[in-house]
Amino acid sequence: MNLLGLPRAELEAFVAERLSAKPFRARQLMKWIYRRGSADFSQMSDLAQDFRAGLSAVAEIAVPQIVTEQSSNDGTRKWMLRMDEVQGIETVYIPEPDRGTLCISSQVGCAMDCSFCATAQQGFNRNLSVAEIVGQVWLAHRELATTRADGRNITNIVFMGMGEPLANYRNVVPAMRTFLDDLGYDLSRRRVTLSTSGLVPQIYKLAEECNVALAVSLHAPNDELRNELVPINRKHPIGELLAACWHYIDKQNGRSVTFEYVMLDGVNDNPEHARQLARLLKGRPAKLNLIPFNAFPGTRYRRSSAAAILKFRDILNDHGVIATIRRTRGDDIDAACGQLAGRVTDRTLVRLGTRLTSTSRAPAEIR
Ligand code: SAH
Repeated sequence: MNLLGLPRAELEAFVAERLSAKPFRARQLMKWIYRRGSADFSQMSDLAQDFRAGLSAVAEIAVPQIVTEQSSNDGTRKWMLRMDEVQGIETVYIPEPDRGTLCISSQVGCAMDCSFCATAQQGFNRNLSVAEIVGQVWLAHRELATTRADGRNITNIVFMGMGEPLANYRNVVPAMRTFLDDLGYDLSRRRVTLSTSGLVPQIYKLAEECNVALAVSLHAPNDELRNELVPINRKHPIGELLAACWHYIDKQNGRSVTFEYVMLDGVNDNPEHARQLARLLKGRPAKLNLIPFNAFPGTRYRRSSAAAILKFRDILNDHGVIATIRRTRGDDIDAACGQLAGRVTDRTLVRLGTRLTSTSRAPAEIR
C-alpha cells in the first residue's frame, strides 16, 4: 500500500485496521511525510519501533522518479517525472518575489484535443493516481528545500500542467484534500487552483465536495469559435459552462472564477471578441487572465502582438471586466502554459477534436 497522498481519514482507517494503531499514529505519519518530506519509515524517530516495523511490512511511501530537470533563466524549474517504463509527465515550479507556484499534471497526456495546446498533440495515455499527483508536490518540496532554506517554497498549487483534472476527478479530489489538510501541505483554499477546459457535470459535483479556486479555459467568446478551439464545447457550450461557474461561486461562497484566454493572432483577439467577452462576464464574479500564446513545434497559431493584447485588455477593463495579462515564464525550457509534453503513448482511438468530426462514431466517453 502506497501511503503517499492517502487522505487523513483513510490513513487513520489504514493504521487502525492493518496495524491496530490509534488515529494519532496516522497524524504523526502525515507530519513526517508532508512537513518533513520523509519517505523512509526508519527515519521517523518518534514512532514506536514495532509500529515502524509493522508499517514496513505492509506499506511504503513510493515517490515518482525524476528523469530530467531543467532550469530557466527566469528561475522557473521543470521536472520530467517517470510514471512507468515509457510514460513521463512534467511539473513546473514558478518562483515570484511574493510566492512560489507549483504547476502540476493530472494525466499522462490529455484527451481534450484543444487545437492550440502542445499536450493535446501527444494524445492521452492514462489518469495519474492520487500518489502520482501528490508525489509531484512531495518531490518539488524536496528538490526546492535544497536551494531555499525558508521551507515555504511552495505557496500555491495549480492544476495547469498536463491533463484535464476534472476528467480524473476520482484521484484529483483526494489529492486536493491533502494539499488543504493542515497536516498535509496546509494551503488555504484560495491557493489551490483547479483549471478546467469546461467539464460541466464535474463542476457541479466539485461545488458539493471540495472547496478550491476555479479557473476555466474559455479562449473564445462565442460557441462557433470555441467549438473549434476547445472541442469539449460541442458537448458543454458556453451558456451551460458559465451557469455552472456561477453556481460554483454561489455554492462555495467564492470570490470569482478566473477565465483563461489564450491570445491567438487573428483568431480570437480582435476588439469585437473583447466586447463579446465583456457582455458575457460583466457584473459576474469573474476575472479574465489573458495568456500570450506559447508556440510549440508544428503549431499553426501565432501569438497576438503586444499591442493587440494591451488593447484587448483595455476594452475589457473599460467595460468593467477585470482583465490581466499573464507574464510568460519558463518558455526558454518549454515550461510555459501549453508547452508541456512529457512522454506520452497515445492510447485513444478517437479524441474529441477533428478526429471526432471526421468519423461517424459516437463520441468516446472522456476518461
Ligand atoms: N486542461 C486544463 C488544465 C491545463 S491548464 C485546462 O484546460 O484548463 C493550461 C492552461 O494553458 C489552459 O488555460 C490552457 O488552455 C492554456 N494553454 C494551452 N496551450 C497554450 C499555449 N500554447 N499557449 C498559452 N496557453 C496555453
